[in-house]
Amino acid sequence: MTSQPIADLSADDLAALLEEQRKAYEELKGRGLKLDLTRGKPSAEQLDLSDELLTLPRGTRDASGTDVRNYGGLSGLQELREMFAELLWVEPEQVVAGGNSSLTMMRDCLVYLMLFGGVDSERPWNREEKVRFVCPVPGYDRHFTLLESLGIEMVTVPFNEDGPDVAAVKALVAEDASIKGMWVVPTYANPTGATTSQEVAAELAGMPTAAPDFKIFWDNAYALHHLTEEEAKSADILTLAAAAGHPHRPIMFASTSKITFAGAGVAFLAASTKTVAWYLDHLGKGSIGPDKINHLRHVQFFGSAQGVRDHMVRHRQIIAPKFEEVDRVLTERLGGLDIATWNKPQGGYFVNLDVLPGTASRVVELAREAGVALTPAGSSFPYKRDPENTNIRLAPTMPPLPEVTEAMEAVATCVLLAAAEKLAA
Ligand code: PLP
Repeated sequence: MTSQPIADLSADDLAALLEEQRKAYEELKGRGLKLDLTRGKPSAEQLDLSDELLTLPRGTRDASGTDVRNYGGLSGLQELREMFAELLWVEPEQVVAGGNSSLTMMRDCLVYLMLFGGVDSERPWNREEKVRFVCPVPGYDRHFTLLESLGIEMVTVPFNEDGPDVAAVKALVAEDASIKGMWVVPTYANPTGATTSQEVAAELAGMPTAAPDFKIFWDNAYALHHLTEEEAKSADILTLAAAAGHPHRPIMFASTSKITFAGAGVAFLAASTKTVAWYLDHLGKGSIGPDKINHLRHVQFFGSAQGVRDHMVRHRQIIAPKFEEVDRVLTERLGGLDIATWNKPQGGYFVNLDVLPGTASRVVELAREAGVALTPAGSSFPYKRDPENTNIRLAPTMPPLPEVTEAMEAVATCVLLAAAEKLAA
């Protein structure tokens, strides 16, 4: 096996490499693997960390004496709002604690904007001729399918190491009033792991926009999900935007889906107090209050904001070795060959693998035929179109460590074979 860039090989050496990789792949197929690297979900071992929740809450009253079994309290339990306000660096009155899904909160906000307009809108968005969103790529697939379902068009910009490409964003939003908003996953982004810097956040918060009601959907899903002891701190987007004279621009989202139970956690929204009132006003037409028993359970389980941070260290101890393993196998098998690059994320749930342009879908196909499920190529792009056919998202948290090793060895073989096929063609 070579360790020099494959593109530098002579035609004969390349033909030999192709033959070697075909054999390795046939051998791989013969193993009858059944592995899955598609799911950005916590493993059972991680979920077990929160099993005490199943024995809570103790009692049925919150700190103010309200009976949590009853209706009411649309903005969520005050003590839980305070706890997460501290963790998200916002004020408690800027926070709503809701149901179990922040994605649902994002969907609701978009629907309210479309149907009614925001606090700073001239009219509902659906009365505009066209509504468009800036989407840093690669990004979170569900953000894109959500926009598509509402008929909101997507315009892409690169997602750099320090966040969305600000110059590209500014150029788009300055002139075009149909561009009403953008996504940002500011901390350990899905899938690149990039964290948006203070400087980039400040520019996004303050940039002139043609639309007076431009929104930044600041999806801080991985705010606390560190993989090393060096913890990235998310930019304080609400303060930055308020200071720049655009207090209603950002709406922040977060949840405990990957802190406690992915199916039974608590989701949060944070924004200007006026935007919070706007959100609750619309929400209140369809809800008399959230699941406050679950809120109380979470308050008692964590005890404090520090309790949440301590809990995240226990997650890190379980999943960091899996991320190390992905990097180890890729480095050993593909290092120096110039056919793939990948990130070593400092947090979050994904590894972003860029293979030889034009081969991502082939790699996914080869892996599937060998029994390893990978996220379909193109998934991290609007309309599932990766213009370079290069990007693959790997999610190593869910399988046990030995399966991560086996799956990554298989992925490396598929990346090599697809590259050799392409270069020899
Ligand atoms: N936002 C991002 C960036 C995600 O990666 C995910 C889940 O993978 C979610 C939101 C989903 O959040 P929730 O479980 O709170 O709906």
